[in-house]
Amino acid sequence: MTRDEYNKQRYSKSHRINNGKEEKYCNNCKTWKVMNLDNFYVWKQSKSDGFHPQCKECCKESARINKSNNKERYSEYDRQYRGRGNNKEIMNERSRQWMVNHKEYTKEFRGAWGRSEIGKAWMLNWMNERELHQHDISTKEWKAK
Ligand SMILES: [Zn+2]
Repeated sequence: MTRDEYNKQRYSKSHRINNGKEEKYCNNCKTWKVMNLDNFYVWKQSKSDGFHPQCKECCKESARINKSNNKERYSEYDRQYRGRGNNKEIMNERSRQWMVNHKEYTKEFRGAWGRSEIGKAWMLNWMNERELHQHDISTKEWKAK
């Protein structure tokens, strides 16, 4: 399966049209919700629809939980990925690749938003998340390639 096919399959699993409105499935509360700003946060890192994978309610909840877990999580991240060579170089390469793979979002990243502190923070966070999740994907799905 190519990454594109994988992404499409993933997209169709979590999106549907109901009464003419596109709905998105929140994996966390197992609920279909209309995909709009009332139910989902805009998520710049999104690889598909531009919205966060979890609904607003769940985001709020997990933000609360994450606060207490974050410390542990990031030390785990550090243990795994620190010392893999020049981190800055890896980050640059990764952001370049990301730009190539996500042309539709690059305008934003290249614009004022991307240069702002919050833009940089988003980008860094996205790459950290991806690094963590990539691990899951590679062991479960990508190995079959
Ligand atoms: Zn939810």
